Amino acid sequence: IKRIGVLTSGGDAPGMNAAIRAVARSAMKRGIEVCAIYNGYSGILSEEIKVLNHNDVSSILKQGGTVLGSARFPEFKQPEVRQAAVEILKKHGIEALVVIGGDGSYMGAKLLTELGVNCIGLPGTIDNDIAGTDFTIGFDTALQTIVEAVDKIRDTSSSHRRANVVEVMGRNAGDLAIWAGISSGAEAVFIPEQDLSLPEVLEQLKKAYDSGKRHAIVILAEGCIKNGLVESPEALAKLIEVHSGFETRATILGHIQRGGSPTAFDRVLASRLGAHAVSLIAAGIGGRCVGVQQNRVVDFDIVEALETMKHVPALDLYNLCYEIV
Ligand code: ADP
Repeated sequence: IKRIGVLTSGGDAPGMNAAIRAVARSAMKRGIEVCAIYNGYSGILSEEIKVLNHNDVSSILKQGGTVLGSARFPEFKQPEVRQAAVEILKKHGIEALVVIGGDGSYMGAKLLTELGVNCIGLPGTIDNDIAGTDFTIGFDTALQTIVEAVDKIRDTSSSHRRANVVEVMGRNAGDLAIWAGISSGAEAVFIPEQDLSLPEVLEQLKKAYDSGKRHAIVILAEGCIKNGLVESPEALAKLIEVHSGFETRATILGHIQRGGSPTAFDRVLASRLGAHAVSLIAAGIGGRCVGVQQNRVVDFDIVEALETMKHVPALDLYNLCYEIV
């Protein structure tokens, strides 16, 4: 194999650059040329394609976001658009592709593989919502950002004797909320995968208030709003205020969670997964997605990952949130 491409697709995540660098460097080590494809799958069609040299990726390891740009390109669901993409990749001599993104991006990678371009998917998302991997690239950095923010919110909440509902990202997954809940010592954590025990939580918060506690942090996963378990962070804050006695505010952390320099953990994870993707491609393998399980790099059939494997958050950790409150 002489030349491969790399692109980032879907929502961006810190550590994507570390993955791009690992793919580029380990391919170059094997004498394989690497083309950057800009702005996700749309960059194939618009031929935003450039051959990378060793120095092009020399300072991106610590940068947040993705230097390749990411984009949503729904047209890629159309077979004729994918066929046109295959022709363009052929024209540029690109024989295989590493796709860094979420499960939507994996679907595109699987379909391209079926058209003869071997693709390998790498899990790049802060949400940790991809089947077959314990951690996704970007999760640890987002978690760190959340914990730093919640620590600050707790300082001011405590000064004013307030409770604070903090909405965190995660799409339909509760992982960020669970890990943030434990790391920040939250009084309650709401995730979409579990029924809300709202009356108990309200009762606990009232007890805490009555006992003289000066602050309370409630972590709310955005998935709870998406699936209708909670109307809004403000509505939950109002309920808490009425039932517990705490003056309560709501904070939506928003896109701050997607930015920032990746943590060492995310850099190492991205480097391991990126190098593994290249080793699969060099062996002529495609249609696989790469992940880490119990600290070992693993790979799976993308179809299997998308159709039969389901991401579940660590519910033992969710229970731990309430055990140590
Ligand atoms: P993520 O990869 O983070 O899950 P999306 O679901 O938005 O994000 O998918 C990213 C991109 O992957 C889409 O904009 C589209 O270009 C491509 N994609 C998503 N679903 C499909 C599909 N069913 N078929 C082909 N391409 C797809």
